[in-house]
Amino acid sequence: MLFEHLNLDPRLLSAVTEAGYTAPTPVQAQAIPALLTGSDLMVTSRTGSGKTAAFMLPALHRLATRPLTGKGPRLLVLSPTRELASQITEAAKTYGKNLKQIRTVTLLGGTPYPVQNRNLARPYDILVATPGRLLDQMDSRRVDLSQVEMLVLDEADRMLDMGFIDDVKRIASATPATRQTLMFSATFDKPIARLAETLLREPVRIEATSLKAAHENIDQRLHYVDNLAHKNRLLAHLLTDVELNQAIIFTATKRDADLLADDLSGQGHSAAALHGDMHQGARNRTLDGLRHGRLRVLVATDVAARGIDVPGISHVINYDLPKVAEDYVHRIGRTGRAGNKGIAISLASSRDFLQLQRIERFTGKSIDVHTIAGFEPRMPIRPSSRSAARPGPAAGKGGRHSPAQDRPQHREARTPWSEQRQTKAPIRKRAG
Ligand code: AMP
Repeated sequence: MLFEHLNLDPRLLSAVTEAGYTAPTPVQAQAIPALLTGSDLMVTSRTGSGKTAAFMLPALHRLATRPLTGKGPRLLVLSPTRELASQITEAAKTYGKNLKQIRTVTLLGGTPYPVQNRNLARPYDILVATPGRLLDQMDSRRVDLSQVEMLVLDEADRMLDMGFIDDVKRIASATPATRQTLMFSATFDKPIARLAETLLREPVRIEATSLKAAHENIDQRLHYVDNLAHKNRLLAHLLTDVELNQAIIFTATKRDADLLADDLSGQGHSAAALHGDMHQGARNRTLDGLRHGRLRVLVATDVAARGIDVPGISHVINYDLPKVAEDYVHRIGRTGRAGNKGIAISLASSRDFLQLQRIERFTGKSIDVHTIAGFEPRMPIRPSSRSAARPGPAAGKGGRHSPAQDRPQHREARTPWSEQRQTKAPIRKRAG
């Protein structure tokens, strides 16, 4: 199928061509025709499937081809996180670039009110918001949702996980009952089905590649580590890989994200942290640095990194395994974007065994164990399926076990990384 077959406004088709898209993705090919006929829609889709254009293109088509009936917004998109909301706003700009009269306002928690208030005072068509800040603005009577024609709940599963269900219901009830409603979710379990029943009317159901079967373009690897020192030596080695264009490293806590980013910067990497405690301005600057290639390494927590869509990310490294198995899938989905190949590396010690099992049960697939010469674990949890042919740079003198590695494993696992900084092996500078 071609975009030309979808009956979209020609100005949208030219924007799509300018974005470099040659054909609709499967979710776009199914969702766009259903949305243009006015149906409600429940889409189970994976990250990176092209779901944003799947709703944004028909929504823009509607805004462009039907005259404005009052003061906006006519399209309301709810997002669980600020990063995802910012990316939806970017998508609205990209796909709507030839529709000069369409205006988008973004309401994000953590951003200053005066600018938002000024933006809301002028007429606008599209509102992209996180639920909490939108409710604030509704309560201050700065937002009136009575003109909403289309309501999109993006990553609805995540909104439920984050406890936004009542907020979402309250927001939906402030929009006209005649609206068209779309729900996107990575899973379709009972809570999502119940929410869909409450908010959608006879929805068309689309199941894009299920999240579990997804990520075929991502090479998933597991490296066992004996302890923290071993983990840091291995990380330092992995960052010397010339194939590594840009990487996101996931840590369990915000503090560890800051500490590890500082440490890597100190060792000569262009690295920065991204987490929920940072001001929106700092988060935007960091993401901008990543998008424009000024940053090679981003050290992030789960929520902050959700929705990041940067095609240059060649590697995802799980410095700590995620607590929730589903987050593993979201994490690794940050690489292999827009049809690229990606590598996802998890560093795990014997203490992570149960968590690893939960992840593999969730994805339905066991992760291949890799070892690198000079970085072999002394106590592998299960045998290697593959070994790197090339010895690592530390295979000689630098690769010997340091005294820190002789500590029993249970002590390392109990003490968070941030409290162990003094004991870890120095992270070696990247070659070149
Ligand atoms: P999403 O699933 O909406 O986060 O989109 C994932 C990535 O796919 C983004 O980088 C989009 O720019 C890109 N994309 C969306 N639609 C297409 C398409 N039809 N062809 C190629 N890339 C696309």
